[in-house]
Amino acid sequence: MTTTTTMITSSSSRNFVGNKVPRVCRKTRRHRLGENRMMMMMMMMMKKISTRDERRNERSRFGCVRVAAAARSSSSGSSNDDDDKNINGATTTRDELLEEIEKLKAENAKLKMLQMQLEDVSLPSSLSSSSSNSSKSTTTATIKTTKKAAVGALRSDPKSESEIEWPLPITAEGCPVGEEDKKPFWETRPKNDPDELFEGKTATEKTNRPKKIAHVTAELAPLAKVGGLGDVTQGLGRTMKMQGHEVEIILPFYQSLDANEIFDLKHVMDFDVPKGTKWDGENVVSMMKTSAYSGNIGGCDVILLKPHEETNSNIFKGGAIYGGSYNELEAYLYFSRASLEFLDKSGRDPDVIHVHEWQTCAVPMLYWEEYHGKTSLNKAKIVMTIHNLDNTGECREEEFFATGVNGEKFNVIEKALDERTIGHNPERMCLMKGGVVYSNKVTTVSPTYAKETLDGNGGFMSKILKANQEKFSGILNGIDYDLWNPALDATLPANFAPGNKMTENKKLCKKYLQIGLGLDADETKPLIVCISRLVPQKGIHLIERAVTQSENNGNQFVLLGSGHSDGGFKRMANEEFSQTNSSNVRLMITYSDALSRLMYAAADFVLVPSMFEPCGLTQMIAMRYGALPIVRSTGGLADTVIDCDADQENGNGFVFYGADDQSLDECIQRANKTFQDRKKFHELQERVARVDYGWEASGNVYAKLYESL
Ligand code: ADP
Repeated sequence: MTTTTTMITSSSSRNFVGNKVPRVCRKTRRHRLGENRMMMMMMMMMKKISTRDERRNERSRFGCVRVAAAARSSSSGSSNDDDDKNINGATTTRDELLEEIEKLKAENAKLKMLQMQLEDVSLPSSLSSSSSNSSKSTTTATIKTTKKAAVGALRSDPKSESEIEWPLPITAEGCPVGEEDKKPFWETRPKNDPDELFEGKTATEKTNRPKKIAHVTAELAPLAKVGGLGDVTQGLGRTMKMQGHEVEIILPFYQSLDANEIFDLKHVMDFDVPKGTKWDGENVVSMMKTSAYSGNIGGCDVILLKPHEETNSNIFKGGAIYGGSYNELEAYLYFSRASLEFLDKSGRDPDVIHVHEWQTCAVPMLYWEEYHGKTSLNKAKIVMTIHNLDNTGECREEEFFATGVNGEKFNVIEKALDERTIGHNPERMCLMKGGVVYSNKVTTVSPTYAKETLDGNGGFMSKILKANQEKFSGILNGIDYDLWNPALDATLPANFAPGNKMTENKKLCKKYLQIGLGLDADETKPLIVCISRLVPQKGIHLIERAVTQSENNGNQFVLLGSGHSDGGFKRMANEEFSQTNSSNVRLMITYSDALSRLMYAAADFVLVPSMFEPCGLTQMIAMRYGALPIVRSTGGLADTVIDCDADQENGNGFVFYGADDQSLDECIQRANKTFQDRKKFHELQERVARVDYGWEASGNVYAKLYESL
């Protein structure tokens, strides 16, 4: 096979030009122009933080830098900045502000006192002492209660139902009844503001051995998220950053990302990335000019990569992260190579390159063959995390050439050859196998899933993982407790925390969802929700069963999901469970972060009936929002959910084992029975909301893993 090199363009350091310059962050902040902003502004004045730079430093300590305000003030060129104006924009004197501060301080103190009094009179006796019995550890799963979860003021605290602006019920088309030009209610909810969510969260213990960590990933929450992968890279990245490590997350700059939602977005550099193509029957490596941008997403510092505007390519184009108008295999192979080129040319010199899923498995392969010792990248070790073995990255030798490197050297049994294809024409590679072989450490996302894969439940990859067992381990995922926080979640009509309006405000959220979705606004019916990709892994037949049985069981059921197995649900949504036919079931075949948050907050139960589940995050988010998970015992679900009937003291959900209808039905009946015992159920809600599945503990395990490299 011959390989010639053609330079299409050589300019690697030109400044960004093009007609789609993403603007420096200008995020709408209308919803903050209220008391919160006023309080923050005043607190900052009190702390004598007078310049904008100091304010930015203050924010960056909390894992998030925002430049919108700075950009606004510098462009106005005025010294009369926001701090000199009241919330209506009128100029205010310093004395007036100080007087206002004193007034607010007095009001705040009174409010806190009243809240404490209220807590004392409304808490169930078993929970009013600080040491809840739910903090005991168990043998089946590591359950810890969080002190953090119990403290902190609520964002909004409606004193009565009349203070809530109730939604208009949606129609079958998704619009409010009679207001066809308007958005459905969940799209009109305020968005969460990381400035508020991350503020003051500096409790994490700092490392005295900081490492430079570069993640390479296809997803990052909240902006570039399709499923749990996005949540995990965001949560892990931010935790490690808070521990004092230098963390950067390299992500494709998908056309579908809203650049206005990326904080501090800046063009960093243009550089050339070798890219292979077949031309006139010959393999040709040319240079693809690539642009790198820096910014901050979900509290994580990011590097976003995409072909330069001048380059005629559809890589990462289209309206969605996956399934856009580009060839995914080609795009992620290019992205893997571009990430290494970026790390090399920018002189990053990381200690750890942490790659995720098949999409980035070419990174370890190329690193050890093409970069280590041959470029500025000499010290990095590679960690690879398998989030799901469902897709392992099938790749033909000539397809691998998109990296600019001939696939021939990898298509051998001891490297990336997929042994199942031996004797086929052509024999193919498995990128995930290559990733495992070439990485220094390989992790998956829960101890039980690691065991299941080694026990042969990982298909072809089980054999590969077994052969590499000494470097393979399962580390339980967490969820970011600041991003998933019902006390501060702006999307909710009423906020709550364990020990603070948990029962009453969850009821308001339930009513809000019931009204908005046109369900019977009946508090006495147990509300089960399911928020899931709709693919066979997730137990489609059991979700269907729960839907069809819910009315018989006296339940309400709301499904939020989409995916290649959603056809049956679409049909049910239009027929037997349409708006006109059912006031107890609603099937929302779509993706919406805002609706998912409203559903977690409203739910009594969250159903996760997966056939296999590497970790699963929805059961953890459910608990955080005071809903009890109903799960099939597999993978990470087995590691995180303890059955309430089997373990009265530590139970935090309901667990079934079989994959048949009867197993599910019985489990739902047990859950319903517990729901009817209102006192017990409310105590369980308080208990599960105190369970700690934050990232701190798992972050420490990853830190140790990085140390061991
Ligand atoms: P997976 O990664 O296999 O999809 P996880 O349970 O690990 O499953 O993570 C799923 C994440 O995606 C959760 O944060 C969940 O809330 C979210 N999610 C799944 N489906 C939807 C949807 N249709 N709309 C909004 N969020 C969704």
